[in-house]
Amino acid sequence: MAKADETILEIDLLALEHNYRFLKSRLNHDTKFLGVVKAFAYGSDSVAIAKKLEAIGADYLAVAYVSEGMALREAGIKTRILVLHPLPVSFENLVAYNLEPNIYSPKILANFLEVAKTKGLKQYPVHLKFNTGLNRLGFGGNQINDLCDVLNNQNEVEVVSVFSHLAASEDLNEREFTENQIATFRSITNTLVPKLKQEPMLHLLNTSGIINYADAQFDMVRSGIGLYGFGNEAIIDQQLKPVATLKTVISQIHTIKEGQSIGYNRAYKADEPVITATLPIGHADGIGRQYGNGKAYVTINGKKAPIVGNVCMDMIMVNVTGIDCEEGDEVVVFGASPTAEQFASGAKTISYEVLTGISQRVTRVVIGN
Ligand SMILES: *Cc1c(COP(=O)(O)O)cnc(C)c1O
Repeated sequence: MAKADETILEIDLLALEHNYRFLKSRLNHDTKFLGVVKAFAYGSDSVAIAKKLEAIGADYLAVAYVSEGMALREAGIKTRILVLHPLPVSFENLVAYNLEPNIYSPKILANFLEVAKTKGLKQYPVHLKFNTGLNRLGFGGNQINDLCDVLNNQNEVEVVSVFSHLAASEDLNEREFTENQIATFRSITNTLVPKLKQEPMLHLLNTSGIINYADAQFDMVRSGIGLYGFGNEAIIDQQLKPVATLKTVISQIHTIKEGQSIGYNRAYKADEPVITATLPIGHADGIGRQYGNGKAYVTINGKKAPIVGNVCMDMIMVNVTGIDCEEGDEVVVFGASPTAEQFASGAKTISYEVLTGISQRVTRVVIGN
């Protein structure tokens, strides 16, 4: 772990492997594992993460969009890739890059079959998604018969898996709702599977599903945030290791007199003398304005330094009064402390958002290869 001399996002592949093994330890040994690497692997580095997951034995990968899967194939990833939200405009590329579509509506099925026929595909692997309560993507249970009529009158595609997605697996106040989603999924698949030509894999659980509803693991699970070190509950977070650490350095230190202001719009007015450090990271790097004005803090030499005033495009100022530090010192924006979850919670958002928001301007440094 080198000391940062600019803003970097450090990606620790040993932490990823630890998290993978922890999540696997909560599952039956024959349950397959799909690693979700959408959105640059939750803002980190999708190629580095996918290569590591491939090396340590993940059975499947998933991305949201076709372009993300193409980038992985171009980097030499051979593992099967499920595209969670393919759009008809990218079906040609999807097939050219050997990616597997989520088929989530009658229209998407018809569109994909058209492309499959034109290309002369035979038994191309597809995944069927059912809506069991999230109301985002997926067929309804009432569409099973129509769906089977179409599927059983063609040979272009083969259903290799059937899945659904939980809406509130991290929220135990919604246990009844989630149990109902699980029951709905069982009932749909009990009706559907005997009508299909081949037996598909079934999968439902995301990270918090693995933690809270392991009985519903079926044939495979799909984990994203857990791989990156967050379990949506403190007790699980303690057993996981954050993969991403966002580091920067102190560019300049200022001594502010009582009555002076700091930053744009004079949002911070000093009612006592303060020392500030200016850091080379701002909203263009993914630290949105909601983190400003004391909502989030960074760590400098082990001490908390809150953001003062508004976040600028390329900089933030933090309060280092009483902290032993100098220009050039390393700053941890999030990582071990504060964690991305702690950093996010100050601004009433979640680890997923702060992680995926780190912009491509920030250099990724991969360690633990
Ligand atoms: C993003 C996503 C996941 C991963 O969820 P986590 O909470 O990050 O584990 C799983 N399944 C689907 C359909 C998703 O969109």
